[in-house]
Amino acid sequence: LRTLYQAIISLNIVYAGWRNACVDLENLTELMDEPPRAGHLEPQEPTGVPEISMPAALDFDRVSFDYDGREILHDLSFSAAPGETIALVGPTGAGKSTIARLILGAYAPASGRILLDGRDLSTISPSELHRLIGVVPQDTQLFNDTIGYNIAYGRLDATQDEIEEAARLAQIDGFIEGLEKGYDTLVGERGLKLSGGERQRIALARIILRKPRLLLLDEATSALDTGTEQRLMEALRQVTARQTTIAIAHRLSTIRHADLILVIEVGRIVEQGRHDTLMAARGRYFAMVTNQSDPVSGFPDEGVLRVGS
Ligand code: ATP
Repeated sequence: LRTLYQAIISLNIVYAGWRNACVDLENLTELMDEPPRAGHLEPQEPTGVPEISMPAALDFDRVSFDYDGREILHDLSFSAAPGETIALVGPTGAGKSTIARLILGAYAPASGRILLDGRDLSTISPSELHRLIGVVPQDTQLFNDTIGYNIAYGRLDATQDEIEEAARLAQIDGFIEGLEKGYDTLVGERGLKLSGGERQRIALARIILRKPRLLLLDEATSALDTGTEQRLMEALRQVTARQTTIAIAHRLSTIRHADLILVIEVGRIVEQGRHDTLMAARGRYFAMVTNQSDPVSGFPDEGVLRVGS
């Protein structure tokens, strides 16, 4: 029994080491599906195993968290049923990214529990968590390889048909097919340069192929040109409609379609509900939306929430 106890202690130390390593990482990208952010990279063997299964349920049960004694999240509770989309909105520094980091297991709550399909996150190994969760970061770095490889990276056994289907759902198929070498076009430093919106749609195609059970979406804060923006939004709608999604959301088009909007301020949920309900309540959310609405149309349909975020 003593040996077993010592083994558990050593495992805990290794696990704590992994968590601490995550703490220093600048953003979610490095934790999950993406190559590290040091620019374009040489191809690598992918490690992900496809997890083809139902969308997950996620529960925050009275979660509090502090960085070095400074409380960042306070008594947070919410639930995402399988297939639901939850939009996290709120001013900068409110704690939205911290919520995402907790879901990724980079930190453990100081109190309360996070449950994935009823399983406490602290009992799920980092490698399993990596398989269950997919991240679409604000800015996607691509490998110095073909577009096809970059899409297939999450699942290299995917067939060409599956890659093309994922590209179609991510609304990037037309762009790729317009290139002379199509899916064999090299991207990155030695090849084609892609815009932020195109890179994010490739990240989406990669996620569509891998089918993680939970999707973490970190929406870009800056507006893209109108055509790119609309294609990206349509692609996101298709993907988030099928998967449990937690979105750090800046775009009203995403937020309006969410099953639940959580308005976060100073680490607390100050308001929650669907778009129409929150607008009717004329509280914090209403103020956030109307403060930046177009004076002509009165409502920024595809706008970006700029106020405080
Ligand atoms: P933004 O919209 O600007 O990305 P956010 O709502 O995602 O903001 P977080 O990044 O979660 O906010 O930060 C919440 C608070 O935690 C902020 O006050 C921030 O300064 C602090 N914070 C974030 N990361 C750390 C860290 N590694 N160590 C200490 N404090 C941190």
